[in-house]
Amino acid sequence: MKSITVLGATGSIGTSTLDLIAQHPDKYQLFAASAFSRIDALASIILKFSPRFAVVRDDSARQKLLALIAGTNCEVLVGEAGLCEVSSAAEVDMVMAAIVGAAGLAPCWAAAEAGKLILLANKETLVTAGGLFMSAVAKSGSVLLPIDSEHNAIFQCMPHDFNASLVESGIRKIHLTASGGPFRQSDVEHLKTVTPEQAVAHPNWSMGQKISVDSASMMNKGLELIEACWLFSCHSDDIDIVVHPQSVIHSMVEYIDGSVLAQLGNPDMRTPIAHAMAWPQRITAGVAPLNLIDIARLDFEAPDYQRFPCLRLAREAAEQRGFSSVYMNAANEIAVQAFLERRLSFLGIADLIERVMNRADRGEPSDINAVKEADQLARRLAEEGL
Ligand code: NAD
Ligand code: MG
Repeated sequence: MKSITVLGATGSIGTSTLDLIAQHPDKYQLFAASAFSRIDALASIILKFSPRFAVVRDDSARQKLLALIAGTNCEVLVGEAGLCEVSSAAEVDMVMAAIVGAAGLAPCWAAAEAGKLILLANKETLVTAGGLFMSAVAKSGSVLLPIDSEHNAIFQCMPHDFNASLVESGIRKIHLTASGGPFRQSDVEHLKTVTPEQAVAHPNWSMGQKISVDSASMMNKGLELIEACWLFSCHSDDIDIVVHPQSVIHSMVEYIDGSVLAQLGNPDMRTPIAHAMAWPQRITAGVAPLNLIDIARLDFEAPDYQRFPCLRLAREAAEQRGFSSVYMNAANEIAVQAFLERRLSFLGIADLIERVMNRADRGEPSDINAVKEADQLARRLAEEGL
């Protein structure tokens, strides 16, 4: 029986993770669950899964939750300290890191330092603190398994030697696939006028609001490029982005002998989550079998760096690493929120990110506090730049 903490339990990835725990009650038990705003949804999770701990944002949310779960033995913790506690507790075997944004960094860091098996959905952790985080993982002997469907696909197509470089593994290239999002075929005139409702309507995946807007701007692929550089210890030039609108191939690894290995599946996050939860074994996920006859064709296109400038900015950040990626990520979070609140146009997202990135120091943060400080400073610059 594995004991699992689900950070961001009320979100899209959190819900899929709980679905897998419910499908395999003989293998997994929920140790702790966290939520930020949806306290009613968290109460339902506690009543269904009986975790030992829950974590909410502050004391008023705690009081509200306690009233809803009266009679249970669940202990309710608050804030970042609570998140870190349930991510590093001795009883925990694995931590599903499914908080959205840089808010997920501190508990991921705590899990890494405590040597936990980390199922990493929160790509912002690697974008903001990749070098430091990978070192912390290596130092504690923690194991990091990617949940992002593309990175999970790449991982599945690679020999499982965590320490080998691409060259040592005989790998020539990684092909990171992208759906292209809802505006794949939109011209710039249309992009000037698109609304939050249009942006969050992803053609293939059902996801949280922030990552849906990131997919529409293709910043999601930019964040994933940086994520892949850290996970697979490679350079951004080792990674090609290929637009594949059907989202059936989740990414590919090309070897020096000409072999290209791909991982395919229906676009359902329960597949990569189940893969990571059971690794190195396999469990059922409740995902419909892939019907290639129905799918009939798979298309591929080059990404358009002109219409989607976030891709260019992310390539720059991937080259520079360090503070550039922290600034890019923070500015993106502010820009996406402003777009969702109709305070910024869709094309204004990339424009704001570029202006904030231009203010970033060259170099690398020396420790995790330097990352947090740079993140806060970049957020202030982004707010001022709106
Ligand atoms: P979501 O918006 O559906 O859920 C986010 C969760 O984080 C919620 O439980 C929310 O309560 C919590 N949260 C939000 N802000 C918080 C804060 N400041 N402090 C603490 N908790 C907070 O998001 P999602 O789509 O499930 O995505 C979660 C993460 O997984 C993101 O980093 C995203 O990029 C990544 N991811 C998601 C998908 C997907 O299919 N949804 C795929 C790949 C990667
Ligand atoms: Mg992805």
